[in-house]
Amino acid sequence: MIPSEILSMDGPIVIGGGIAGLTLALSLHDLGIACRIFESAPAFKRLGVGLNLLPHGVRELSQLGLQPALARHAVETREMSFYTRYGQHIFTEPRGRFAGYEWPQFSIHRGDFHQVLVDAVRERLGADAIVMNRKCIGVEQDDAGVTVRFADATTGMTLPPVRGSAALACDGIHSAIRRQLFPDEGPPAYQGINMWRGVSRWKPYLTGATMVQAGWLDVGKMVIYPLSNGADDDGLQTINWVAEIQSPRNVMQDWNLEGNVADILPTFADWNFPWLDVASMIEKPEVLLEYPMVDRDPLPFWTAGRITLLGDAAHPMYPRGGNGAGQGILDARALARCMKTQPDAAAALKAYEAERLDAANRVVLTNRSAPPDAILKVVHERSGDRPFNHIDDLISRDELAAITDGYKRVAGFDKASLGAKP
Ligand SMILES: Cc1cc2nc3c(=O)[nH]c(=O)nc-3n(C[C@H](O)[C@H](O)[C@H](O)COP(=O)(O)OP(=O)(O)OC[C@H]3O[C@@H](n4cnc5c(N)ncnc54)[C@H](O)[C@@H]3O)c2cc1C
Repeated sequence: MIPSEILSMDGPIVIGGGIAGLTLALSLHDLGIACRIFESAPAFKRLGVGLNLLPHGVRELSQLGLQPALARHAVETREMSFYTRYGQHIFTEPRGRFAGYEWPQFSIHRGDFHQVLVDAVRERLGADAIVMNRKCIGVEQDDAGVTVRFADATTGMTLPPVRGSAALACDGIHSAIRRQLFPDEGPPAYQGINMWRGVSRWKPYLTGATMVQAGWLDVGKMVIYPLSNGADDDGLQTINWVAEIQSPRNVMQDWNLEGNVADILPTFADWNFPWLDVASMIEKPEVLLEYPMVDRDPLPFWTAGRITLLGDAAHPMYPRGGNGAGQGILDARALARCMKTQPDAAAALKAYEAERLDAANRVVLTNRSAPPDAILKVVHERSGDRPFNHIDDLISRDELAAITDGYKRVAGFDKASLGAKP
């Protein structure tokens, strides 16, 4: 029995207004499919720190006409460089357009990226396209559609359910819908690496648009990239950095949990490279958030009838290859295309799963075993964590390039196949 106060809509219901949900709504709208987003947050805030958008994600967002808006907020990454914790150079490769891709690689504040998507959704789908403060608590389905149940995210009070043609779950790493489909799964898996994600104002380093990876996890690893273009009047740039340290510490998995710089300073105390004084840069961050590196085991299916998962709800992954947002964007685009070509909702959702499940699951597993920063692991092990005389004594350029090129193929952003994609 469907309660009489139920709200009803013709199209699909998008659950979660994060990166995947908003991209999905824009893609559906672009193909003439009406939808609405139900988001648990009472209001969107500029949360988080930086993330990277690689050419495969930017390609899809460009097709939605968003590249100029993104470019206004982003740094176009020139190159990715790997160093030891002593500041010794291992390998550099150009990135995005500097590597000959048609699409750029962007480093961008997650809040700015999210706002670009929110603005586009409200402008194109209407001011009421995103319904805030609706925490999804479950979904039922029958032959004609789905009934999604909601609670007020602030008070916890049950709200009237909403009826639609399909439930598209983009509700992130703690997805309520995933929990309903896989009730025995438990929390995300922590495998012993904790992250401190900081933002500092600091002098530009190297090209001013270089993403750096340095060190290794058992002695401390850093990922560093700028989030603003050029120096300001004080000669400073906004620099995003992530300290990754092997540790049994597994704090609450909340994107906004504040970190304490004293927990990481000893690990990086002697990191003073000729081109960047890392130890000083991280001393007084403007923002410092703590988050454990977690993921979930790949799922055997995402789709159950008229319900499906995408983005982090489907495949949360270690943030070690810049693919968290990108894979969610690819899901959203594929799902919208399948819903356009397949009028039957259940068949469309199954076709989407057939296109994306294996590919995304492979990225989850590769981010555990052989992400691009495996370069650092090899050098760390072969050098015995000691300074080397010459990098060629440890590893050849071909072997280094093979590690990053192999990852590009798995994640779907190698130049040849991306350029050939219709
Ligand atoms: C506040 C926040 C800050 C983040 N900061 C960073 C960062 O700094 N760097 C980084 O690399 N990644 C960050 N991420 C994660 C990153 O956005 C995702 O890993 C990736 O972009 C995949 O996007 P997604 O849409 O699948 O998930 P998310 O972007 O996590 O979006 C999920 C959305 O669903 C909503 N939601 C959750 N549960 C429910 C529910 N029951 N009902 C309705 N809505 C629900 C959430 O509020 C959120 O808006 C952040 C995520 C969030 C939510």
